Amino acid sequence: MSDLPPAYGGEILHVDLESGESEREELAPEDARLFLGGNGLAVKLVAEHVPASADAFDSENVVVFAVGPMNATPFQSTSRGVVGFVSPMTDGFFDSTFGGTFPRAQKTTGFDAIALHGAADDLSYVTITADGATVEPAADMAGLDTYETCERVREREDVGYDTHVIAAGPAGENRVRYACLLHESKRREGVAGRGGSGAVLGSKNVKAVAVREGDFEPELAAPDQLRTLATQRMKPLMEGTEMLQDYGTSGLVNPVNETGKLGQRNNQTERTSRENAEAISGERLHEEFVTEDTTCANCAVACGKHVAVQSEGITEAKIPEFESLFGTATMQEVYDIKRVMKANDLCDRLGMDTISWGVTVAFARECYEEGLLSADASPHLEFGDADGLVELAEETARRDGIGDRLAAGSFRFADSLDDAAERYLHGAKGLEFAAHSPRGLKGMSIGYATATRGGSHHDTRPTLQYQGEHDETTDGTAEFAARSQHFTAVGDSLTQCRFVSEGGWGERLNERYSDAVNAATGWDLDPAELERIGERIYNLERLVNVQRGIASRADDTLPYRVMHEAIPDGPSAGMFCPPSELEAMLDEYYAFRGWDDDGVPTDETLERLELTPFAN
Ligand code: SF4
Repeated sequence: MSDLPPAYGGEILHVDLESGESEREELAPEDARLFLGGNGLAVKLVAEHVPASADAFDSENVVVFAVGPMNATPFQSTSRGVVGFVSPMTDGFFDSTFGGTFPRAQKTTGFDAIALHGAADDLSYVTITADGATVEPAADMAGLDTYETCERVREREDVGYDTHVIAAGPAGENRVRYACLLHESKRREGVAGRGGSGAVLGSKNVKAVAVREGDFEPELAAPDQLRTLATQRMKPLMEGTEMLQDYGTSGLVNPVNETGKLGQRNNQTERTSRENAEAISGERLHEEFVTEDTTCANCAVACGKHVAVQSEGITEAKIPEFESLFGTATMQEVYDIKRVMKANDLCDRLGMDTISWGVTVAFARECYEEGLLSADASPHLEFGDADGLVELAEETARRDGIGDRLAAGSFRFADSLDDAAERYLHGAKGLEFAAHSPRGLKGMSIGYATATRGGSHHDTRPTLQYQGEHDETTDGTAEFAARSQHFTAVGDSLTQCRFVSEGGWGERLNERYSDAVNAATGWDLDPAELERIGERIYNLERLVNVQRGIASRADDTLPYRVMHEAIPDGPSAGMFCPPSELEAMLDEYYAFRGWDDDGVPTDETLERLELTPFAN
């Protein structure tokens, strides 16, 4: 095996939160080639260090911050990082990506991955420099929101925005299971939104992680070639991301609603009136509330926006993403955009995933409508109650009243109710679905059912399905979903922004991707070999989940409404995914992957992917 390419920092930092000691481990060249970085490195470290018996909130869980070979290079939009951990939502491996400046700063320390082990005795924050880690007391930060925490850490470190901070809010401290992490840098937030990374950090008594830039500068194997690739990508990228440049992801509200595949009222229907959609659309946000564009380091797309809402006392907040508008507006039947933005800003500040929180509230509202929850549970359980939505955000983060039950997520909430409540769940493997319809998009049906992260739209991607590929047919859709999972695993291991990848080079791995990796590393991968890396990463995630007892044929399922109730009206009326259809797609999916009938990777598959050492 040749040397480690100098595009890598070359080290993994292991931090013992209890003692405050840290240890360096060299990144082995063969591991870089097998797992790339980011997502791949995170799952490898979780597989090696977290016992299958450990609960997400056990101190044995590990939180990994990982970057890839192209972070901190002039190549655009490689400014994302990955947080990997065992999720308190799914009980399985989870990786959540975020943008901003933290990942780039992490790379300059020379640490391709930072693994936080154990738990601190008291509330603390962790500072990473090129010299290693220090664990600092943070009792004064208890109860601060995410923005306040970032600011407080910057004050303590005393170098302004040269300290790059990602923080948990009160929800993380209170172990709200879907608590997120928010990174606030100059003019740009990055949110590791899904899966509960904030709750796991909270369980470790860690309020924030800060990185101070080091001197490491990655060396590219063929910088001119990478520059040429980047230049060639610019035109399709800018043309392919016009909506994002103008409106951010909120620009998807109107077009997706028009397809009749946008969940409303806890997904009872999947289309609202044009008037309602318009009221929460990116176009309206742009016209009335957006104050400026914001961007991650080194990205010309600038999909981020800040909004101001005077009547809500919001002078500057992150624009709600499309997924957040689904969770906090359409699923609630709330079209008062100012209240929706207030709820979203609260979620960001309190540190909660807007998708899981919103879908859990929508679930509770339908349970109330169906008589499974009484009015004594909360006065805020009517669909359409915008003020109640805002109240519930605070109650959830503080675990007040019904907030304590909402904090568990919809699946655990359902366990405390009559069995009939299961009919109103909208998620897979314990994680609530994102906005892309599992009834109206066949690729999402099988994609969500098999996703290692459950209801995540960053395992199988919906983008091509909206363009008419594998949206309404099951023909070849299982393979499509699996290969899309390889695409996202590679992208998150290179820590390339998904929007930039899809807009610039397309939604499938091709020569442009492998050429870019080769130009960065000096390797000689072809697209098939690059895809095999994605396949390896996905199989290792699956293996971790099999060992944890949460991945089998019985677990690869969809909720009742998706399998038994057709979309009632609109352009996608009649669509759903009956059990027989899902079973047939699972057969094809397992066969394509080389898994047995119960969805377990076979010995031959593990050997082919060089994963045998992880089997035991
Ligand atoms: S497209 Fe948006 S999320 Fe992606 S790198 Fe650019 S600003 Fe960040």
